Amino acid sequence: MTTMIDETHDPARASWVQSAQGHPDFPIQNLPFGIFSPQGQDPRPGAAIGDSIVDLRAIAPLLPAMPNGALASPALNDLLALPAEHRRTLRQALSTLLSDPRHEAAVRAHLHEADQCRLHLPARIGDYTDFYVGIHHAMNIGRLFRPDTPLLPNYKWIPIGYHGRASSIRLSGQPVVRPVGQRAPLEDGMPLFEPTARMDFELELGVWIGTGNRLAAPVAIGDAHRHIAGISLLNDWSARDFQAWEYQPLGPFLSKNFQTTISPWIVTMEALAPFRVAQAARREGDPCPLPYLWDENDQANGAFAIELEVTLSSRAMRERGLGPHRLSLSDARAMYWTAAQMVAHHTVNGCNLNPGDLLGTGTLSTDEPSGLGSLMEITRGGKAPITLPGGEERSFLIDGDEIAFGGKARADGRSASGLAGRKSSLRDSGLKRTPDTVALSSTSADWSGQAR
Ligand code: MN
Repeated sequence: MTTMIDETHDPARASWVQSAQGHPDFPIQNLPFGIFSPQGQDPRPGAAIGDSIVDLRAIAPLLPAMPNGALASPALNDLLALPAEHRRTLRQALSTLLSDPRHEAAVRAHLHEADQCRLHLPARIGDYTDFYVGIHHAMNIGRLFRPDTPLLPNYKWIPIGYHGRASSIRLSGQPVVRPVGQRAPLEDGMPLFEPTARMDFELELGVWIGTGNRLAAPVAIGDAHRHIAGISLLNDWSARDFQAWEYQPLGPFLSKNFQTTISPWIVTMEALAPFRVAQAARREGDPCPLPYLWDENDQANGAFAIELEVTLSSRAMRERGLGPHRLSLSDARAMYWTAAQMVAHHTVNGCNLNPGDLLGTGTLSTDEPSGLGSLMEITRGGKAPITLPGGEERSFLIDGDEIAFGGKARADGRSASGLAGRKSSLRDSGLKRTPDTVALSSTSADWSGQAR
């Protein structure tokens, strides 16, 4: 593995940036990369340190030269494209600059208060693929439809995935507009055409592709880790009623592609080195995967010790001064397939991945009722609404709800590193369900009439 533990992970290492000491997300041991604009200025690469962002373009002369001028670019694709060794060298130099007080004078001028900066998507995302490797989620969803055989026979052989939509990926913190679409037929056989009534979130990790692979040149499982640059939090917003109506036979489409949100910082594989753990052993009776998906080293280190949290804050809760309510405390160890297995499978047919491509893991739920990564699971398809502080009930999200994800990598004797999700609120689509629905239905009827 290229992700070795070195002095940058030393829990005793401190930064002269005061806010980094004991910072919940960004101690000096983390140093995630992103793209930011200081007030009124253009986007550039930065690294989060405590409550600040250090301008990597400005301090480039103090850092090792990147072969392709990656630190001058307004997107991280060029940095992601480099072999991991370059990011490791960059991380080591940055860690020295931010810990050794002799460098403070030269670097401090290039530190910006994070809350005064604008954050941007860290990379131009050419392609986005969403997997389904959260086994407890797959079991929970499967059970809603097939109580006796929740998992389909392919699940333990193939990391199931589908191609998502890259154009509608946004940073967390930006509002989501409730989508309009078709849902299941009424008694007269016509589909409804309305804003979704079953708006849900999906708690996932986003996996950033670093070095790509050429078309027709699959990535071997033993090399897959070299192609993974880092991770973020990912919310695969889902309209469950549209999904149920449209997903057969080709899978999710408009129920998912209206927006996907990610957290702004790429936490690198180098930063995550102390938090790699063994992949959970397959259950007795589960098949051993085909050789192209199996690597002993990946099985020994391929999982992430990351706690994941979802909170909900409704408009009424905020108006009454009530804090966010925790919906779930989940865990990235719920992945049945590792990130390396996702990459090996994605490319085994010769499909090429590019630097800055994004892979979603699929919803990550634990096998506990307190660790469910979607409302579909928490409320059992809407049949068991939950009660929020203040007494409101929820089956699915309503307008004004804010969902926030958190992620925390933890290991004994290590400084925890966070992924720092931000809250995203749900806005209505500007279409009221009544009485405007009548007009909308007649539009849909006209269209159906023409189609017939
Ligand atoms: Mn998903």
